[in-house]
Amino acid sequence: MTATVEKHVFQAEVNEVLSLVVNSLYSHREVFLRELISNAADAIDQLNFRSLTDHSLLGDDKELRIELIRDDKAGTLTIRDNGVGMTRDEMIGNLGTIARSGSKKLMQSLSAEQKKDITLIGQFGVGFYSAFLVADSVTVISRKAGSADSWQWTSQAKGDFEVQKAERAGRGTDVILHLKDDAKEYLNEWPVREVIGKYSDYVRWPIRMEVERGGGDEKKTEWTTLNQARAIWTKPKGEVTDAQHHEFYKSLSHDWTEPLAWTHFKVEGTHELTGLIYLPQKAPFDLVERKKSGVKLFVKRVFIMDDAQEIVPEWLRFVKGVVDSEDLPLNVSREILQKDATTRFIKKQVVGKTLTLLEELAAEGETEREVDGEKKKVDRFLQFWGEFGRMLKEGVYHDVDSRDRLAKLLRFRSTHDDGWHGFAAYKARMPADQKAIYYVAADSLPTAKSSPHIESLKKRGFEVLLLTDPIDEWIVDALRQFDEVPFTSAAKGALELPESDEQKQQKEAKQKELAPVTERMQKALDQHVKTVRVTDRLTDSPACLVSDEHGMSARQERVLREAGHDVPVQKRILELNADHPVVKKLQDLGDDTAFADWSALLYDQALLAEGTLPADPAAFTRRLTALMQKA
Ligand code: ADP
Repeated sequence: MTATVEKHVFQAEVNEVLSLVVNSLYSHREVFLRELISNAADAIDQLNFRSLTDHSLLGDDKELRIELIRDDKAGTLTIRDNGVGMTRDEMIGNLGTIARSGSKKLMQSLSAEQKKDITLIGQFGVGFYSAFLVADSVTVISRKAGSADSWQWTSQAKGDFEVQKAERAGRGTDVILHLKDDAKEYLNEWPVREVIGKYSDYVRWPIRMEVERGGGDEKKTEWTTLNQARAIWTKPKGEVTDAQHHEFYKSLSHDWTEPLAWTHFKVEGTHELTGLIYLPQKAPFDLVERKKSGVKLFVKRVFIMDDAQEIVPEWLRFVKGVVDSEDLPLNVSREILQKDATTRFIKKQVVGKTLTLLEELAAEGETEREVDGEKKKVDRFLQFWGEFGRMLKEGVYHDVDSRDRLAKLLRFRSTHDDGWHGFAAYKARMPADQKAIYYVAADSLPTAKSSPHIESLKKRGFEVLLLTDPIDEWIVDALRQFDEVPFTSAAKGALELPESDEQKQQKEAKQKELAPVTERMQKALDQHVKTVRVTDRLTDSPACLVSDEHGMSARQERVLREAGHDVPVQKRILELNADHPVVKKLQDLGDDTAFADWSALLYDQALLAEGTLPADPAAFTRRLTALMQKA
């Protein structure tokens, strides 16, 4: 009886990934072993976990292991595991599609140039498909633990794959690589040993291979273990090399670049745990939408679950790593985790140690380091900030317990210079008479820098933070103050700048003098503004718009509206610069129509300066043209 062969076509994106893998990763092709071994180790982890509650799954095949089988005659290298295995449907689903929906979208949006960038390609989880770097044909034979059926999957990576019934002695998976002619070196002992030593030494299950010993008549073969088979995090910190961390991180995260930094910690006392947390160099393309955490939970070296969200706060969802607890029960489930007090303890440790790592990076500044084989000057914290700063802001907003430590790590642009600045450095630069940390928010850096609201602050030598990320204003609102210095928006309330008695008297005199103008303008613009008043906020511009001290800024309103919220239009306050020639001229402008036109122009101009389009742009240009004609 011949088995029925089913033909399936790959999902379109798989074809793309396959051709990318083969064309772009050629020079890194030895990584196929790391990827396939890491899949095998994961499959054994899963089986080990399930066998805790169902002993029968192990049967008489209790020694969990990975085997590499070299067959000279057939020209094949097989990666065999006695892990959890796959059913027919799992094979079709796992080895024929790319599960993450975001990946599809990204793949479609990548340019040809970007597709050569292996760090981007790595994000698709090329894992299994890397087999085609060294094989022109791949056969997978698998039997799910607890099932009597075995299935075979075969593909030449030419758009389709075949599935049929097969025979396999016990549970687990064989990945049989029919090596390409130029990859036949992997039929020899030493190239394989070398790759394992480099990439997979930390794998926590034994990787075994049959090797030849002795020569001539003494020649015999024996099984040997190629790796240390000890979980990397259980080793003393000083015994793990950077290179080992790099490889462990890469297998854990499917990232192709080295991690930016890591922290390896042991907590002892009432609760015991070991953790290894890595910061990636680059943010994934779906950082903000992604809700999964990248931390694996182990209990006493037994793998329990991927994406243990319960032990990592959402804002830390970008870190990768493992946590190994001595206290949680081995049969712990998500439901138990959610209720267990140990979970909260673990989470606190993960947050605390990661914050310490970030604080160390922030203190480190620019250093010379070797990055992917090249010596470079890098500021690791700023690199981190560029990729993941948004997540720290999320943390400030949601994680009240970490707020103070996080606030010290935030970085913003400012009027000081073109660099990134933290609150502490800002505070240290404050002149004695400055009583607040000033900020202005705008859609872009140039708009923020030339904002009329900060004119007199700049003139006084007060530094102003330039906030351009839409969520920034909510972050400073949530913080309210830093180290007892309040945050003050340059575009809200009355600025209350320090002034001498003389300055105060002058200001009052100007207010009195301009009262007829402000009253008249108030009437002309009644529909649009709440009040018109004289300000000392401006030096060069004639007017600006400000919100109430506790009101929302124009930008906050805009951000909310763009996000689809129904925000009523709030009337704001129009402030006039009493020393400006235009404002002075208004005092003598008798013609009511002309006065109304000038007022409307000033109002629209103030809107434009903060990046808001006037409600009636055509009317604005009409008035402006008329004015130019008269000039
Ligand atoms: P990833 O490991 O990132 O999920 P892969 O392409 O490497 O992506 O593998 C796809 C899926 O195929 C895995 O998630 C797993 O479900 C399944 N798989 C791969 N190799 C094995 C194996 N040796 N045993 C059991 N399942 C496997």
